[in-house]
Order: sequence, then structure tokens, then C-alpha cells
Amino acid sequence: MNFINSDKIRKDFPILHRQVNGKPLVYFDNGATSQKTQQVIDVINRYYQHENSNIHRGIHTLSQEATDAYEKARTTVQQFINAQHSHEIIFTSGTTGSINLVASSFGKKHLQAGDEIIISTMEHHSNIVPWQLICEEKEAILKVIPINDKGELRIDEFKKLLSNKTKLVSITHVSNTLGTINPVKEIIKIVRHHTPPSGEKEGEGAFILIDGAQAVPHTKVDVQALDCDFYAFSGHKMFGPTGVGILYGKEAILNELPPYQGGGDMIKTVTFEKTTYNELPHKFEAGTPNIVGGLGLAAAIDYMNNIGIANIEAYEHELLSYATEKIKQIEGVRIIGEAANKASVLSFLVDGTHPSDIGMIIDKLGIAIRTGHHCTEPLMNRFDIPGTARASFAFYNTFEEIDIFINAVKRAVKMLK
Ligand code: PMP
Repeated sequence: MNFINSDKIRKDFPILHRQVNGKPLVYFDNGATSQKTQQVIDVINRYYQHENSNIHRGIHTLSQEATDAYEKARTTVQQFINAQHSHEIIFTSGTTGSINLVASSFGKKHLQAGDEIIISTMEHHSNIVPWQLICEEKEAILKVIPINDKGELRIDEFKKLLSNKTKLVSITHVSNTLGTINPVKEIIKIVRHHTPPSGEKEGEGAFILIDGAQAVPHTKVDVQALDCDFYAFSGHKMFGPTGVGILYGKEAILNELPPYQGGGDMIKTVTFEKTTYNELPHKFEAGTPNIVGGLGLAAAIDYMNNIGIANIEAYEHELLSYATEKIKQIEGVRIIGEAANKASVLSFLVDGTHPSDIGMIIDKLGIAIRTGHHCTEPLMNRFDIPGTARASFAFYNTFEEIDIFINAVKRAVKMLK
């Protein structure tokens, strides 16, 4: 049973009505970026046509209106992920920006030689490389949770990696390559139980960052219920604009961290002798931000809320089950990522074919999927494959599109064999 009215929803996404290579577009590359609703596009147009002004520093009407709208957008994000305070929402350039912020500021404050950070085999490069950079600088050690053949985290092995040297655990909520939904709530509970006090503060163990880039567009996230310390995500994967993202952090923890970048807006007072820093969230928002990005993101959240996240999740689950069943009927297909709990990502290989050849052939039929390593090279090494073909669905996709896609893959395989 689903409550999604695809016909109505699709009318809101202008790009879905264009043709690609003479065929109606079938857009199955939502894991890379999602399409934008007319409502989001209208907010962006209206801002530049009627409202454009810099925020936080002006006393004139336009500046005050823009400031109010930007701060309202922050509240929309706060409510969307159920953060306790709006100043726990830091606007960044995206998930990558958010993780780099934490790696740099957290690393400066909390990391010493011999300390350990734990990530997993299925991380996106943006949840690997920032930690490698800071570990190199601080002579800290990066440890990696293994996965099983279905693409699920080995929780038994994870427990063995935790020690009083663990300073931070950074895990993806949903894998962009496998679709695995990780049991982040359970992981956070384990961290809280298994990491003894680090000595920084009484009762304080390892910190936890969740990379929510692929989770927030598909499932309800409640940062207080999760009890994570940081949660990072991108606007463009959740129907908002590119170049804007969010770092959620608990107030007390953000207050303790040093600023990431210096510049306007993040200061209280500046003299050549000494600068004092602004309060949250501004301490972490140096310079003129992506104002219209924030407004567009809030419009995307309003749109998702209108449909209902539970409806989105249920509908996408049906799409994934349908596509999985159908693709399995193609001879020689191997699905990469068969976790019990999956979001709407379908990675696959077909014996005797190269994923990019399949991608290129079906592109000629108007179908957009992604092929390659999906910025998860260590994960590809774990499966001993160079890459996969990946179809990733959003709530505006339909069962008919899946039929078109399956027929196209069958045709491509026939041509390639
Ligand atoms: N983490 C995951 C799981 C992702 O899928 C992505 C984007 N593919 C990122 C991080 C990076 O997001 P962005 O490029 O928007 O910063």
C-alpha cells in the first residue's frame, strides 16, 4: 500500500518531462544528486529577483528580511531532524564540508598521537580522506570496521576495535553504493557502553559522527533519539540546491570546538592582538554563506514534509523490491549489496559485461544510472570489483520506469555478450 501520487508529484519536477536522446528521461541517479521541485526553483528565482541582500550585517529592510528568511530556514532544518536548538544547525557547503569541519576542529581539540578513529569499509571518500589527513597530522590511527558479503557491518568486529584510545567513530547511515541502512542507533549505544572515559571530561567516551548524505532523503532522522554527536548531510541529495549542506552538532560539543575557518561573521571582536569568536552557529559560518541555498533547502524540506517521510520510505521500499526482483531474472546478474535493511539503491554487475558499457548503452535510451566506484574505492576492493552499475530511486520514480530500465538492461546485455 502506498500513499504516493506519482503523477501529481512528477508535475512538480520540470526536468522529469524532458527527453534525453529522443526518449523520455528515466532518472535513476538520485544517489549522486536529486532533481529539484518547481517550488525550490521558485524560491531561488524569487530570492534573486526580489529579496537578494547580504545577511546578518545590514540594518536596511532587505538585509533584515534576508536574515530572517535564512534563520527561518535554519529552524526548518532543526525541526526536520529534531535537533534541540537551531544554533546546533551549522550551514556548510555539503556533507564533505561538514565532515572536513569536524575533522579539522575536532582533530585540533581532541586528537593526540596514538589516538584512534574508527570508520567502516563502506564509507564514501569524504568520510575517509578527511580522517586520513587529520590522522597524518596528529599521528593518530585510523581503524576500519569490516563488512560481510551481503554488505552489512560486522558489529562483532566493531566491538573489538573499540578501546579507551577511540576518540571518534564516523559511520555512514546509508551506504551510497550498497544501499545498506546501518543500525546507527545500535552502533551509538555500543560506543556509549564500550568506550571508557577518555579523560577529557568525566564520563566522556568516543564521539560519534553520522554521515547522513544518503539517509536524510529517504528516512526519518531524529538526532536526539539517535544521540549522535554530529550528523552531516547535503541539500542537493534531498531535492534542494547544490552547494549547501548541514552539520548538526550537540551544543556543548560545538561550543568546545575551535573555529574551522576565520573571517567575517564568525567573530565577536577583532583586534590585531586578539580576536574573540561569535556564538553558535556563527562561530562556524565564516564569510557570506550560500543564502539562497539555505532557503532552497528549507523549501525542499517543506516539500518532503508535505508528502510525508514515512510515505516516501514505504514507496521507495516498494520500488526497490520490485526492481530487485526484476533484475534478478536477468541471467548472470549479481547484486552488490544484499543487506537485510536497504534504502533505494540497486548496485549490480552482469557476467561478461562492464558496468560502464551498460550505462552508456542505456543512456542512449534516455536512462540515467551511475557506473564506477561511486567514491567508495576501498569498498570496491573489498568485493574485488572495479565498480558497479547503480540505479538509485527517489519518490518521483515509478514502477513503469523500472520496467523500461529492466528492458533496457536486458537489451544492453544482449548487445554486449
Ligand atoms: N557521503 C555519502 C554517503 C555520499 O553518498 C556522498 C555523496 N555521494 C557524500 C558523503 C558527499 O556528499 P557531497 O558531495 O554532497 O558533499
